[in-house]
Amino acid sequence: MKAIYKAAPLSRKNIRDYVARIRKLTGTENIYYFPIVEFLEILLPQLIDGFYYEICSREEMPIKYGETFPAENKICIREDIYEQALAGDAFARYTIAHEIGHLLLNDVSSISLCRLADGEELKPYEDPEWQADCFGYYPLIRGLTPDEIVQRCGVTPRAARVQSSKV
Ligand SMILES: [Zn+2]
Repeated sequence: MKAIYKAAPLSRKNIRDYVARIRKLTGTENIYYFPIVEFLEILLPQLIDGFYYEICSREEMPIKYGETFPAENKICIREDIYEQALAGDAFARYTIAHEIGHLLLNDVSSISLCRLADGEELKPYEDPEWQADCFGYYPLIRGLTPDEIVQRCGVTPRAARVQSSKV
């Protein structure tokens, strides 16, 4: 058995509704290509009191692209990922969205450490990684093919497939 993180349950619909509220709040309802770096740098500090982000070196974060510390309202992004996201790289943009998902969905009070019995698994909707992945979805993509989603939204083919299969 190993200890794992368990999040308060959130359904796909809960998360989509949350994203829709953020889109409305930021006036990006009709924008396919979400300005994720600007959201991290300019809007998040306005939305969350005390929020800050750090760009970390490869030496500081050798095995992680990004990391979120909900108790400190802090997100760390590795420098190469940050630079690639600025340049529009889909995987890097997605990494930042995933970390922001952790920050907004998984606050300190909603996360617990648990040990699962042998053979048991977390339900997807209790898994903070599943929740943060869901965060990338936006209803605007309804009806688009995965290729169109990749083109218009600047996300990875994998993310496009995952999201479009559950519209
Ligand atoms: Zn994660």
